[in-house]
Amino acid sequence: MNNNFDLIVVGGGSGGLACAQRAAEYGAYVAVVEQAPLGGTCVNVGCVPKKIMWYAAQHSSQINLASDYGFDVTVQSHNWAQLKKHRDAYIEHLNDIYERNLKNRKVHLIRGSAKFKNTTTISVNGIDYSAERIVIASGGQPIIPELEGSHLGTDSDGFFALKECPSRVAIVGSGYIAVEFAGLLSALGAEVSLLIRKESLLRSFDDMLSENLKTALAHQGVKLIDKVIPFSLEKRDNDCYLNSVNKKQYGPFDKIIWAVGRKPNTSDLNLSSTAVLTDQDDFIPVDKYQKTNIENIFAIGDVTGKNALTPVAIAAGRRLSDRLFGNMPGRYLEYHTIPTVVFSHPPIGTIGLTELEAREKYGDRIKIYTSSFTPMLYALSDQTDKVLTSMKLVTLGEEQKVIGCHIIGDGADEMLQGFAVAIRKGVTKKDLDDTIAIHPTSAEELVTMR
Ligand code: FAD
Ligand code: NDP
Repeated sequence: MNNNFDLIVVGGGSGGLACAQRAAEYGAYVAVVEQAPLGGTCVNVGCVPKKIMWYAAQHSSQINLASDYGFDVTVQSHNWAQLKKHRDAYIEHLNDIYERNLKNRKVHLIRGSAKFKNTTTISVNGIDYSAERIVIASGGQPIIPELEGSHLGTDSDGFFALKECPSRVAIVGSGYIAVEFAGLLSALGAEVSLLIRKESLLRSFDDMLSENLKTALAHQGVKLIDKVIPFSLEKRDNDCYLNSVNKKQYGPFDKIIWAVGRKPNTSDLNLSSTAVLTDQDDFIPVDKYQKTNIENIFAIGDVTGKNALTPVAIAAGRRLSDRLFGNMPGRYLEYHTIPTVVFSHPPIGTIGLTELEAREKYGDRIKIYTSSFTPMLYALSDQTDKVLTSMKLVTLGEEQKVIGCHIIGDGADEMLQGFAVAIRKGVTKKDLDDTIAIHPTSAEELVTMR
């Protein structure tokens, strides 16, 4: 192997693999450096194992409905260890596929931890590798706050390593991971307390979503406790407790899971040898072409601090390689109108401006459409009031261009993708009204709102 590459990518996660493979498809001589299993956060400790757990939790709620449809189903127990075994095997299979994909495209995989020596050279296990261009795609890791006893708690990585379902669990946080884990742990039998620092969940989302989710989680039996500012954790007789700043104690719990955000993997890269700048939170700022302050060094994905989502990292990586090696000089990723789904129970799909953001920006030029209903799946159930689906369209100006779409309810995760295309292309309320509905579905409400 010649150690002088056209491109070295640090990190074999969502963004790094996409960038490296696209560059190799254009004929570039490429290496990827990865210190852990291939696939990064998403495949190993993120989207993929989380979605498997979410599917397991969905089964639990569907089984609860079975008797309404005439089935006589008795569930004796849930075997967490078996679920984990199958999940781990699936992930190992994906790891192998990723390695094969690299081989097929003649991308060199260098196993180990990369450190910069200078702007064109990195060192891995004492061996130097150089490249005209280097892409940093090193992702991030969970934050564990620096508080007394905080390491008595675990994080999302630790959650995926759990060998059994904890009986009593506290989740600290109010973002994506906190609400996703709360829903699935509760469905799989844990007694869940969600400790929220402020008063609401998912604060940057539309109010309708965060309020409805709070109600839904409470109906599922999740104990929501707000205004809890963590001060310390302690352990007594194998039980964990969380002490808050205002001197209240919460517990006993078997597990406490921190879900309070993520920090970038930049501290081990020896960036000082390159003068690549980081911001106050250690993220690497980039321009619209993913370029750092150093001409030949780029950064993509979570390490940049922008929209920490797998498809965003992949899109940024592919567009960068299109530009650098594919003769597409103007190509870059537009970081707007990015759809996102929270795999809560029920799921949330959201894109564009919230009602509040739209009102602040456009005042009374905004018109809002909403709909709230019980999906037909629950028509035979006596729980109809507990499973509402709610939708909101935020429209702008006389033409009523749709600038926000927010959905919470069964199927929201699969519903949003198509609407995201339309919204990106500037769909108006009239376009939606003119579209024939598909009946009977929940999605049809999005084209029949008045
Ligand atoms: P990563 O995938 O984190 O890859 C970075 C890689 O770099 C890692 O493999 C790491 O080992 C490696 N690395 C770091 N430093 C070095 C070094 N010095 N040398 C060599 N290798 C190094 N997003 C979604 O879109 N949908 C979801 O449903 C979703 N669910 C999630 C659930 C959880 C619990 C979490 C934590 C995240 C979730 N995400 C989800 C976010 C998503 O996982 C990330 O946005 C995505 O993985 C970012 O990709 P990346 O390439 O930037 O970084
Ligand atoms: P988030 O940024 O989503 O949420 C973390 C929240 O925790 C903060 O918004 C804050 O809410 C609260 N918080 C922060 N610090 C503290 C503290 N010290 N004590 C108590 N609460 C605190 O982070 P996550 O870790 O949930 O997820 C990280 C990112 O990963 C997400 O932003 C998302 O981009 C990605 N992800 C995507 C998923 C998906 O696509 N489905 C799923 C999971 C993750 P407040 O200020 O209201 O207190």
